[in-house]
Amino acid sequence: MDAIDPHEWARTGRQTHGTLPLAGMERLRELLESGAGEVEVTLAGQVLAGGRPVLTGSASCEVAVRCRRCLEPFTLRLEAPIRLGVLRDDAELARLPDGYEPLICPVDQELSLTQLVEDELLLALPDHPHHADGACGPSAVPAQQAGKRQPFAALASLRKNDPPGGHHD
Ligand SMILES: [Zn+2]
Repeated sequence: MDAIDPHEWARTGRQTHGTLPLAGMERLRELLESGAGEVEVTLAGQVLAGGRPVLTGSASCEVAVRCRRCLEPFTLRLEAPIRLGVLRDDAELARLPDGYEPLICPVDQELSLTQLVEDELLLALPDHPHHADGACGPSAVPAQQAGKRQPFAALASLRKNDPPGGHHD
C-alpha cells in the first residue's frame, strides 16, 4: 500500500512507521553502488494552526557509494528530515508554514509514498560523497581486513595539535 492521500493523512492524523526497499527507488539507485537495503520511514499527518495540513517525519538508510577522493566504495548514512506543507496548488504557497517544503497535491489525489521518500533522500545525498577528512586510503579498510598495523596510524599520533592560546589582534 504505497499510495497516500496527503490531505486525508493530515486531516485524520494518520501516521506510519515502517521500511521501504531501496530497490523500489530507481532514481536513487542509479546514484548508488548497490540497490540493496531498506529505508526506515516515519511519517505523520497533522493540521497546524490556521488549518494548514503538514506531513512530518524522517527517512533514513545506509547506502553504498563510491568515494570521489579515493574511489573506494563505502557506506554512507542518509538522514532526511521530512517537513512538508501540503498545498492544493501553487496559489497556496503563501500559506506554507515556516520551515516546511511545499508538497503540492490536489485534494483527493494520491501520491506514492516511495517517491515522496525518494525525493527527500535524493536531497540528502551529497553531490560528491567522500570519506570524512583523513579517512581515505588505508584507514578506510574495514577492521576485519586490517590485519596489520597501519604505518600511517603511528604518524598520525605524532602530529601536533594546534598550539593553544592563539592570538587574534
Ligand atoms: Zn575516500
